[in-house]
Amino acid sequence: EVILEAVDLEYSYPDGTNALRKINLQVRKGEKIAILGSNGAGKSTLFMQFNGIYRPSSGSIKYQGQDISYKNKALIELRKKVGIVFQDPDSQLFSASVYQDISFGPLNLGFSEEKVADRVKRALTDTETTDLEDKPTHLLSYGQKKRVSIAGVLAMEPEVIIFDEPTAGLDPRHSQEFMQLLEKLSIEGITIILSTHDVDLAYSWSDRIAIMYSGAIIAQGEPGELFMRTEIVERADLALPWLIEM
Ligand code: ADP
Ligand code: MG
Ligand code: MG
Repeated sequence: EVILEAVDLEYSYPDGTNALRKINLQVRKGEKIAILGSNGAGKSTLFMQFNGIYRPSSGSIKYQGQDISYKNKALIELRKKVGIVFQDPDSQLFSASVYQDISFGPLNLGFSEEKVADRVKRALTDTETTDLEDKPTHLLSYGQKKRVSIAGVLAMEPEVIIFDEPTAGLDPRHSQEFMQLLEKLSIEGITIILSTHDVDLAYSWSDRIAIMYSGAIIAQGEPGELFMRTEIVERADLALPWLIEM
């Protein structure tokens, strides 16, 4: 069952930068998808489209078969179902305390205070940040901020979570802890899309990989078969010069 889909998606920034070219990507329910690509490939721009932040220049984004690119009601629905964890946690944390930051989303969705408190508690537990609940957000370490920003998204109880370069800037231990959290979310049935420069991570973690280069998906498939195809490796070598070292 396809849950989220980009259909012939194109996007140019107002300054004319052609950031996405004819992107076709289907995300199935419960899948783990890695978007692999080096800096400037278009990963973050694609994610803004999946979350309905940017409007496509042409083509569309569909959530459960519904075009969300311009229909306001569907877009609001989408925001409840598709969460995005930005690369920089500071862009997601803006309240005085951790509790306020995590409760912001569900409060906005109109849940009662009791329900909100429930969700925050669960999100704190899942991200192992219960001890941070009353801390001022600005005093947290980078790793703590990262976890709290994830908790904020979890509290919305989305069906799909998009992580933009989640392991960038994390040390190996935190990286590993993060991957364990992803595994837990995946087991709970959440569909996960992440972007990374890390071939090994994409290869070992994902059900499917899409390789982006210069705004296009130049190859996609299951990791096992993807890197067996020589034409893919040749094309991927262009996108990811270090791939050849695998
Ligand atoms: P990635 O996340 O893979 O590093 P991005 O989606 O950030 O790639 O960028 C894709 C392309 O769009 C790059 O050429 C980048 O310079 C350009 N770009 C990103 N943000 C903007 C912006 N706000 N205005 C103009 N061009 C942008
Ligand atoms: Mg980048
Ligand atoms: Mg990016």
